[in-house]
Amino acid sequence: MDKSLERFLRYVKVDTQSDDTSFSVPSQAKELDLTRLLQSELKDMGIESHINEFGILYGKLPGEKGLDPIGLNSHVDTALECSGKDVKPQIIKNYDGGYIHLNDTYKMSPAEFPTLGEHIGDDLVVTSGDTLLGADDKAGIAIIMAVLYHYVTHPEEKHHPICFCFTPDEEIGRGPDHFNAKEFGAKYAYTVDGGIWNEIATETFNAAHATVIISGVSIHPGEAKGKMVNAANVAMAFDAELPPLKRPQFTEYKEGFNHLVEMSGGCDSAVLRYIIRNHSREELEIQKGEFRAAAKAVEEKFPGAKVELDIGDDYRNMKEILDKHPEAVDQAVKAFHSLGFEPVFQPIRGGTDGATFSFKGCPTPNLGTGSYNHHGRFEYLSVKEFRRMIDIVKQIVKA
Ligand SMILES: [Zn+2]
Repeated sequence: MDKSLERFLRYVKVDTQSDDTSFSVPSQAKELDLTRLLQSELKDMGIESHINEFGILYGKLPGEKGLDPIGLNSHVDTALECSGKDVKPQIIKNYDGGYIHLNDTYKMSPAEFPTLGEHIGDDLVVTSGDTLLGADDKAGIAIIMAVLYHYVTHPEEKHHPICFCFTPDEEIGRGPDHFNAKEFGAKYAYTVDGGIWNEIATETFNAAHATVIISGVSIHPGEAKGKMVNAANVAMAFDAELPPLKRPQFTEYKEGFNHLVEMSGGCDSAVLRYIIRNHSREELEIQKGEFRAAAKAVEEKFPGAKVELDIGDDYRNMKEILDKHPEAVDQAVKAFHSLGFEPVFQPIRGGTDGATFSFKGCPTPNLGTGSYNHHGRFEYLSVKEFRRMIDIVKQIVKA
């Protein structure tokens, strides 16, 4: 087995699940188990790195003088939806296109997971059915480590200075909180954190959230006539005022949405929490306006009810920055072409840490890893595509 696949299999066995209920940084100390393992493997390669107080590992492999330092990033943590403890990866050699039996209960086939049909003849890494695989984003880490190893063991091949960092807590949205573009030192960078290998992501959503706090008038139901204003009824009316077709289940591609994440309350008071998403900033502002209009409308329909609306921005579409600094995308496209591949540009229906890196001063599109069905037991890695991404990233940083 080649070293890059060995590394990947070693990394997925380390439990690094982050925790959104924790206030510590990183959210789980066990995330550092992998970060420290990476540091010791880097040391064995002769590459210096340091882990700062926020659990971020930064390092640099010096390259040709005068060339732009290029950055690479992946996250060490795994998703919350599925356990990442005791991951037992299985290798399916030369996949025949039929059922893959993960264990006695779970199996997968191209009928349920159409992308599998594109991997006939590939070697696949799958789970044992009890956990996620953690290719998101340990495949990204293994790709970066393979590129570093390649250039350390081939000193005759000239390359750009490579700045790299491995971050905790991406899955709980805190990955880039403590990212420092100066400490990183790259002119531009790539998160290696996608699925489909040839997708370059340069667009994310613009993200905002709305909290709606409704106060009603609570009174004994026996004496309620003409007096009671039930906050729970107002809450339902509020949600009904928003355009129903802008719910996530009715949107795709570049259509934005308003998503009711949580709702609680009773007669006296009720709370609704939404996330608001759109690739276009103008359209995001229009959606915010719909929330304000809904608040006004229900206050008119339910005299005596009070609606408090709190709208805030979260992250922004990185396209704004990448359009102004096209070097990162140009360099990636050049690398794909020089290896005879055509990249695909697909806007992300979500965010990436790279969006925040970009706004913090380091333009950072996202690259794929050749892994699929993230965040669950059906996650798998195509070894062929994973190796191809190693070649592409090697090519990106090549002098
Ligand atoms: Zn990820």
